[in-house]
Amino acid sequence: MSCLKPEGMDPVANGKGGLDYNPFDVMQPRAPEQIPAEARNGGRVKQADQAPEGVYRPDYNILTPNMRSPDYVQMSTAAAITLGIAQGKMLRCECTRCLNLLLTYPEGCRANCAYCGLARHREAERDYADRNFIRVDWPAVPMAEVVDIVARDGGNSPFHRMCISMITHPNSDEDTVSVLKKWTSKIDPSAIPISILSNPTTMTRQDVQTLHELGSDIFTVALDAATPGLFDRTRGKGVQSPHSWKKYWEILEDARDIFGPKKFGAHIIVGMGETEHEVLTLVQQLVDMGGHSHMFCFFPEKGSLMDHLPATPRDQWRRVQLARYLIDYCGVRVDQMKFDEHGRVDDYGMPKGELDAIINAGIAFRTSGCPGKFADDISACDRPYGDSPPSNIASYPFQPNGNDLRTIRKQLDIRKPAN
Ligand code: SF4
Repeated sequence: MSCLKPEGMDPVANGKGGLDYNPFDVMQPRAPEQIPAEARNGGRVKQADQAPEGVYRPDYNILTPNMRSPDYVQMSTAAAITLGIAQGKMLRCECTRCLNLLLTYPEGCRANCAYCGLARHREAERDYADRNFIRVDWPAVPMAEVVDIVARDGGNSPFHRMCISMITHPNSDEDTVSVLKKWTSKIDPSAIPISILSNPTTMTRQDVQTLHELGSDIFTVALDAATPGLFDRTRGKGVQSPHSWKKYWEILEDARDIFGPKKFGAHIIVGMGETEHEVLTLVQQLVDMGGHSHMFCFFPEKGSLMDHLPATPRDQWRRVQLARYLIDYCGVRVDQMKFDEHGRVDDYGMPKGELDAIINAGIAFRTSGCPGKFADDISACDRPYGDSPPSNIASYPFQPNGNDLRTIRKQLDIRKPAN
């Protein structure tokens, strides 16, 4: 396995100085800047108080209307195209299988996570509903319209799952319940299962229980950072943000108790400065608890406090993707794997023939997340190009073909034996 890549290769694929991983020291976020008083807490939007009319498409040159959940929700561009309320095509994808509904308020998210396009520090430059998030725009849509369209499609809905994504806001817990009730009033949760992407900072165990009783199927906690130190640096005191590792784990353990095995999980972003050994140890811990990990490849989101940092080198990402799949779905344990002095995977703990078969199946390299209707290890939440440009795909939102697998093998430095 090589540590250095020749200079001049695709900058998206390589770490600083040609390293094939992103070390902790390099991945230091910028400090957030002061926000002008008039822009704080959605001040401009609330003062103008312009009423929304139907669907709102992000436009950075006008003041956004005063939109609020539970009446309004935002959704990814892929979901808006699939729902038929936005025009567009996605490279090699017909649609997305997950309808993600993001709570929205003029005040926006009150947290300041360093890698996130929705973070509070962006109040200075962009209204909440206009902010890019996982590389795309998020149109705002009346919740009633969303429910009507999906209910009308019934069993023909392209969506295999719906996910309510909470943000850090004082009304987020209450409004998640309202959005969930609006949905289940017209759509059977056994036809389109529901996930909750939670915001532990404002939640109690009773909130987790309530969401379960109201029909949600899977509960996830976005740990995002793989270690307590990285969590604090990117989501806690390091960036004047309110989250704590301890509180996130409390709610994750509540979800394990209430939702049960295979019905809870954690989001983890790979390449923010943790070692491969650290992130895979966390993956193992989640499996041992009965849960799953949903992985994202770090991408420097424009406007975020980490937008000056390198995307995760593809080599590091592929090693972690493959090893995570083996731990989550193939019964391999992290302690059967071998790691080098930088914590990089050196041996996957599986005989070569079996490993080749897993690589060839390609599923390990698809986007990971809550399952849909195809298979337990195929995520409904395919997030097309949410963690990379289409020119250098990190998480494949479709089944990788032969060419894709050749690229993946090169990135893994595991060539197919000649036979
Ligand atoms: S809590 Fe979530 S939405 Fe808010 S800044 Fe952090 S990652 Fe972004």
